Amino acid sequence: MWRLGFVGYINHYLDVSLSFGDFMNKTGFFFHEECLWHSGGNYAFTVPVGGFVQPLAAGGLPENPETKRRFKNLIEVSGLAKDIDILSSRRATVEELMLVHTKKYIKEFMSLSEEGGGELGRQVPFGPGGFEIASRSAGLVVSAVSSVMSGDFNNAYALSRPPGHHCLPDVPNGFCLLNNIGVAVRAAQANKEVERVAIVDWDVHHGNGTENIFYTDPNVLTISVHQERNYPLNTGDISQRGEAGGLGFNLNIPLPPGSGHEVYVQTMKRLVEPSINLYKPDLIIVACGFDASGVDPLSRMLCGANTFREMTRSIIHLAENHCDGKFVMAHEGGYSELHVPFCGHAVLQEMSGSVIEVFDPLKSRIDGQQPSKEFNDFVSGKINNIEKRIFG
Ligand SMILES: [Zn+2]
Repeated sequence: MWRLGFVGYINHYLDVSLSFGDFMNKTGFFFHEECLWHSGGNYAFTVPVGGFVQPLAAGGLPENPETKRRFKNLIEVSGLAKDIDILSSRRATVEELMLVHTKKYIKEFMSLSEEGGGELGRQVPFGPGGFEIASRSAGLVVSAVSSVMSGDFNNAYALSRPPGHHCLPDVPNGFCLLNNIGVAVRAAQANKEVERVAIVDWDVHHGNGTENIFYTDPNVLTISVHQERNYPLNTGDISQRGEAGGLGFNLNIPLPPGSGHEVYVQTMKRLVEPSINLYKPDLIIVACGFDASGVDPLSRMLCGANTFREMTRSIIHLAENHCDGKFVMAHEGGYSELHVPFCGHAVLQEMSGSVIEVFDPLKSRIDGQQPSKEFNDFVSGKINNIEKRIFG
């Protein structure tokens, strides 16, 4: 019963409802402390503790609250928080979740959450109140989209946790329990807030859940830029272009390990931008993972805060051209406690137009580790091939 008490407690004290008014700034930042209370279970890195796997000294999963908490702390300490509006959000409703997820999965998730937590498949454990917390995470993205479509903000950032882009309609995986962006898009479409949406997923892992949800839907263009054969191991190939009416509206851009700033900038310019220019969406949503960072423990890429800044500029430009400036960033992965806050700060500075800048303390290290011209030429050849394949 104490677990139900916990859920009741957070419902009563933390369920802040939104009332949009005269906001001072053009960027909304949707955050709720409850999301940082999500418990990811007893894992060492990505492996369950047990047998010969000793618990880690620092504890648990790389998907822990510190990366996000430190991101929010940094924007408070730097002063950038004054140039954005920080808001909370309601949870996504069961009806909204069921626009994407099966009734069976939602019922099982709710019931195990009430029993104190557990696992429902593919090693995504959760603790007491896990369903309510995941619904809050999805709610942050729902509210971010709604606030932008209603004109309260030009753009918005949702600091969602747990993340969403690996979650399938009936199976959680890859730290993801609900597909936050999927739910937000379907809810906005159901409310007639938006018709055509482009999702740009630059989390370093393939956005397989989001791809799956919209695979046959021409009203949602899904683009995933990811490290090839990282996670999941066997998805994210360039040949997966969508099916039926959705054929041609899914684009996978698998990049080799070692790709850095130049490769990501070229990928945006030569593949992402032309795709969105052809598609002309009403809204762009970015699945904003920071795990392509040069120091992330779950990838082998070499991006710096300046890479995320540059990619954000590209999204701003696209949104200005096609969506009246409207776009939303939904937080996904990113596992370096040190680096995520600086990458996030650069993104928020670009979104808000704030003059408050903080220096990326890893800049010289990551700049110095950028791949050779030979490597970049090799990847450029791969980008040429994808270009020919999708644009003829
Ligand atoms: Zn990721």
